[in-house]
Amino acid sequence: MSPPKTSEPAFKTSKKRIFISLLGLTFALIMLLILVGGWIATIGLNHLHPGLTLIAQIIAGLAFIFLSGIISALILSILLEKDLPFTQKIRGLGIKLFLPLMEHLGPRLGVSKENVRNSFIEINNRLLVSGHRHTIPPERMLLLLPHCLQRADCQRRITTSIDNCQQCGRCNIDALIKLASAHKVRIAVATGGTLARKIVRDHRPKIIIAVACERDLTSGIHDTFPLPVYGILNQRPEGPCWNTIVDVSEIEKALQIFLKKV
Ligand code: SF4
Repeated sequence: MSPPKTSEPAFKTSKKRIFISLLGLTFALIMLLILVGGWIATIGLNHLHPGLTLIAQIIAGLAFIFLSGIISALILSILLEKDLPFTQKIRGLGIKLFLPLMEHLGPRLGVSKENVRNSFIEINNRLLVSGHRHTIPPERMLLLLPHCLQRADCQRRITTSIDNCQQCGRCNIDALIKLASAHKVRIAVATGGTLARKIVRDHRPKIIIAVACERDLTSGIHDTFPLPVYGILNQRPEGPCWNTIVDVSEIEKALQIFLKKV
């Protein structure tokens, strides 16, 4: 149940490097597409009316300035770990626009989808922490867990209600119930995206601390935006979706960050 052995600061720095490099490359690719598209369009537009060429150039220039501003602000807030103006709005653009592009581009450049998502989750968490300004009431915080944390041979139906867990201590659910109860935060277990969305609708949290694998965390962060989701990766010593575990101290640290007044 111990966390991975990798030195944590070095691990986080490498995730930051992966994210920033891919972000830069994605930006360069978008710019190249705008330039090539603009150039082709101007050839055709020039035949129609010379003034249209100028309009196309102005639009391409504005797109360049807009995207450069977004990318620069995002990279600056990642490097400085400070909440700059519009950081949270830019987080949204990163989630909705750049992440899908980076997921396609990464594997073509030798970075697996899993590593792209991993670095994205790390950056998303950093931006949430740096943008954290107000204490969140514990009852508006939701600790959302994946079903695979439960022992596969346990018969208790904890997705119906986590209170059905008899807290035998054979899996992390026991410790997490105690943790949620100590901090008075809500806790629920989801079997997939549909149930997770229903739980979120029912609880109406201000922030979600979610545990899952790279794929589910990334899609959860994407689907629930603008609702903030702080992601914590589970560990899969027996393979995906089977008797997974999580570092409970990492969850406690996250709860303390968002319950604390800044
Ligand atoms: S702590 Fe025990 S009872 Fe609760 S979910 Fe895990 S195995 Fe089942």
